[in-house]
Amino acid sequence: MPELPEVETIRRDLTASIVKRQIAAVEILSPKTASHSAAFFKRELVGRKIMAVSRRGKLLIITLSSGKDEVVNSEGINYLLIHLKMTGQLIYLDKKNRVAGGHSLNTKVETEKLPNSHTRAYLVMDNGGHLYFNDMRKFGYLKLATKKELDALIEKNYGPEPLTPEFTLETFKKALSRTNLKIKAALLNQKLIAGLGNIYVDEVLWEARIRPERLVPSIRPEELKKLFLAINKIIALAIESRGTTFSNYVDSQGRSGNFSKFLKVYGRGGEKCPKCHNPLQKTKIAGRGTHYCPICQK
Ligand SMILES: [Zn+2]
Repeated sequence: MPELPEVETIRRDLTASIVKRQIAAVEILSPKTASHSAAFFKRELVGRKIMAVSRRGKLLIITLSSGKDEVVNSEGINYLLIHLKMTGQLIYLDKKNRVAGGHSLNTKVETEKLPNSHTRAYLVMDNGGHLYFNDMRKFGYLKLATKKELDALIEKNYGPEPLTPEFTLETFKKALSRTNLKIKAALLNQKLIAGLGNIYVDEVLWEARIRPERLVPSIRPEELKKLFLAINKIIALAIESRGTTFSNYVDSQGRSGNFSKFLKVYGRGGEKCPKCHNPLQKTKIAGRGTHYCPICQK
């Protein structure tokens, strides 16, 4: 599943390719994936320019121009929101650029023939570029939203986010003070902290030497500080490495996400802990595969 660093990587790559482009056509192939009818998407999107690609947690936010005329913008739609969820992928192709990101994919196979059987929607740009949204399991979505709807969605679903000015030790502690969950479950909860998923939660808990099953109220202030620092450190390193990708995914420049070589515990159950050399354990917490060191993590 793409996490914050992977979505941030797609955001950066897409920004370079589609910002200032005008949308020439839109096709919705799976009604379940779209918030509105295909006709509504066409009416709202065609003729408008892409002004910015931003992100909140794992939600991609495409800001649209105010429209070619008043009729187009009658509903006050200003944003196209894209969430990749479990298996979403975005692939952009034009004569010069190829951007691919999200769920692990083999670019050679999956970009040769598009749209393919997993393509749920695509946009065509004024330069002939195509942006495809593929999603094998159909948990992802495309949503048209007004400013008010976007603000409400963020307010309801997204807590403070690592590496932003609002993510301070104080806001982190305050967010966690609202829960009695196990720390692993709390860090996965996007409403408390936005953007952390299974891979990075296992990594930050190892880095901070905290057992994933510890209940949040049992975690001491000095441990919370370590955890806060570990989150910032690992997310920054993962973004710098263009995220973690498995399988044979490569992006537009033939690069794969490099963070997998920095993984200390995730996916390494039974292997030696890089610090104490005892075997790492794998268990299930909050319904998710969880990796930790029973010696280093207290
Ligand atoms: Zn260890």
